[in-house]
Amino acid sequence: MSLQQAIAEFRGQFRGSVIEPEDTAYDEARKVYNASIDRKPRLIVKCADVADVIAAVRMAKTHGLRVSIRGGGHNAAGLGVCDDGMCIDLALLNYVRVDPSARTVLVGAGSKWKDVDHATHAFGLAVPSGIISSTGVAGLTLGGGMGHLTRKYGLTIDNLLSVDLVLADGTFVVANSEENADLFWAVRGGGGNFGIVTSFLFEAHPVDTVCAGPMLWNLEDAADVMKWYREFITQAPEEMNGFFAMMSVPPGPPFPEELHLRKMCAIVWCYQGSMEQANTILESIRSYRPPAFEFFVPMPFPMLQGLFDGILPPGLQWYWKADFFKELNDAAIEKHLEHASLMPTWQSTMHLYPVNGKVHRVGEADTAFSHRDAVWSEVIVGVDPDPANVGKITDWARSYYNDLHPFGAGGAYMNFMMEEGEDRIRAAYRGNYDRLAAVKAKYDPSNFFRVNQNIRPVESHKAQPAS
Ligand SMILES: Cc1cc2nc3c(=O)[nH]c(=O)nc-3n(C[C@H](O)[C@H](O)[C@H](O)COP(=O)(O)OP(=O)(O)OC[C@H]3O[C@@H](n4cnc5c(N)ncnc54)[C@H](O)[C@@H]3O)c2cc1C
Repeated sequence: MSLQQAIAEFRGQFRGSVIEPEDTAYDEARKVYNASIDRKPRLIVKCADVADVIAAVRMAKTHGLRVSIRGGGHNAAGLGVCDDGMCIDLALLNYVRVDPSARTVLVGAGSKWKDVDHATHAFGLAVPSGIISSTGVAGLTLGGGMGHLTRKYGLTIDNLLSVDLVLADGTFVVANSEENADLFWAVRGGGGNFGIVTSFLFEAHPVDTVCAGPMLWNLEDAADVMKWYREFITQAPEEMNGFFAMMSVPPGPPFPEELHLRKMCAIVWCYQGSMEQANTILESIRSYRPPAFEFFVPMPFPMLQGLFDGILPPGLQWYWKADFFKELNDAAIEKHLEHASLMPTWQSTMHLYPVNGKVHRVGEADTAFSHRDAVWSEVIVGVDPDPANVGKITDWARSYYNDLHPFGAGGAYMNFMMEEGEDRIRAAYRGNYDRLAAVKAKYDPSNFFRVNQNIRPVESHKAQPAS
């Protein structure tokens, strides 16, 4: 049977939508968040349920189609979409069920974090996630997940209780600490290498109104603020999270007009406690280097999660570089200042996310996420709407990265990487790589799921194609 005939037959048994290049929906459906990615799949299948996911995997397997898995479509390297093959899009699997007495949350794999935040907030609960609410639950979780609640409650995977998955042979399994424990270990950091997760069960925590928002300083104060921050954030109460940013001030409220587009440094806080306690904790920085501007107020947690969404709408050009850091010495700080002053566009930025606190109380080999001894996860992102500026934002991010990399811990958070080759993937997993390769060999020996930060199955290591 030809592929065309097979697709026609497949449409008959598929409940969601099947989109091919000649369909009017095709160009919109193949777009991902990073507009510099322009891939053309042979077909896009929007699965309506788990049965559709199973049918899609079987169809792709039978016809030798390369498969990409799309959750929220936010991956910077565009790994949710592929050329020529089948893009399995899970956006229709969008549901959230909160069990307030058990404090658990069941989430469909096509949901975004804003869907989860909206549902859990009604019960005064939250699941630790990231800092932008339009990010997909699936990709963020499977890579690790770091954000405003990390110091107190750990990575997103540290709050994952169970997943439902469709494997490369089309079988459906549950993975948790009791069932398929090796697979559960691997999906907590190992990305989309092992199967298509159709739902996630998370533990939630009592998080309601938080005291949060950015404090901004002029770049002349940035060295002093960074030096204060490197001591502060490793000793602060875990209820206090704060990520450091080099940024340009967004041209709109709540920022005063005289600061608009000025290059500055910032710390974006999230405190779980009263304003009075927060002010006591933050007194040391306010008296040492008073911020040029601050918007630090009590706000519902979902509001904090959506605070920056408007600055970074879908459809911009993105280029990312990343590393983990255990320390932030004076020489590294000098380099940060040099490159911050060269930020090429106002949406370009550098963030240092703290990955200490609760993250350090989980062992390096307890989940696939290896860099538990890091203190910060750095990401340098060149961003601009204009495709003509891709060269400019890419050069800046690479040059910033090249100067900071020698101070790093030797690997990066896989969710902040572009397609950077096998050595960088190994460096992301360090001592966990070989165990991941063995789990991959057990559950996906033919490397069917390879459009990702790919872990090669151990037996077929030499025989596999590069991507
Ligand atoms: C603006 C922005 C802000 C971000 N902020 C944060 C942050 O604060 N914290 C953080 O940790 N990360 C953050 N990230 C990074 C984010 O975690 C990754 O981009 C992640 O890949 C996004 O997941 P997604 O589902 O949206 O991506 P997609 O592009 O849909 O998928 C990415 C990859 O994940 C895998 N995948 C997706 N769904 C499934 C599934 N159901 N089963 C198996 N594999 C699957 C596949 O390999 C896929 O190629 C941010 C990204 C952006 C663009």
